[in-house]
Amino acid sequence: MVYSYTQISQYLRCPRSYRYRYLDGWREKETRAAMAFGRSFETALGAYFRGEDCGAALFTEWGAYRDAPFEYKKGDTWDRLVHQGVHLLQRFVQDDRVRIRDPRTNLQIKILQTLPGGSEFVSYLDAIGNVDGVRCLIDWKTTASRYPQDPEGLLALDPQLICYSWISGISEVALVVFVRKHAPEIQYLRASISEEQRREFGRLVETTINQIETGHFDSHSGIRFPQNGCVSCSHLGLCLHNEQLIAANLIRKAGASDLDWLDELVD
Ligand code: SF4
Repeated sequence: MVYSYTQISQYLRCPRSYRYRYLDGWREKETRAAMAFGRSFETALGAYFRGEDCGAALFTEWGAYRDAPFEYKKGDTWDRLVHQGVHLLQRFVQDDRVRIRDPRTNLQIKILQTLPGGSEFVSYLDAIGNVDGVRCLIDWKTTASRYPQDPEGLLALDPQLICYSWISGISEVALVVFVRKHAPEIQYLRASISEEQRREFGRLVETTINQIETGHFDSHSGIRFPQNGCVSCSHLGLCLHNEQLIAANLIRKAGASDLDWLDELVD
């Protein structure tokens, strides 16, 4: 088996949801515009670091989705997203705070690690480069809202960054957040992940895989007013036996776990 951060976090969120997705093959339909836009934007960033026209790359990539039947949130449209994307790219170029040496090898880096039990763990790091002169692993995020920065040190608890630090052995991490709003904003956030955090994450991976491989898939919805994880869970229709919800949100594919690396690319 090849595991990834997406799989581990989905299991920890709700083992039942993991079973639906990875064993039974129920995948979420690609209806979220923000997700496809995020992928297009990251391709444009890659073009920028290779010295190519990043605006043209964004138009080409996002252009492929012009007539896609996406759900747009909060008044978003295809045009509005592309304008926000272009402004963010311009701001990013002006800021000039991120440097990637040799972008052909330091962007979308695949790391495969063999685990003690013989399974493998795969990660795709967005980039390794310098942020404000400090070498770190970098994760890009495109989002409609700012990443919370208070209290100080919060970023060092981000499980995805801890995972990437664990698999790469790099302690310095950065999140570059492209906030899509009227006045574009980019957050350049850095944190250090400790050796103890990496060791702890390694143990978490081991115990989680052990639970998966021994067939523990009890539901763990975490429902507690006002946070109800089930409401945003794509598998809600399966738990409620609601055919309408299933048809709206899911598509069933055999061998779904083989496609897991796709999720990893957009995380
Ligand atoms: S709807 Fe709730 S209980 Fe069902 S899989 Fe999703 S999170 Fe788990």
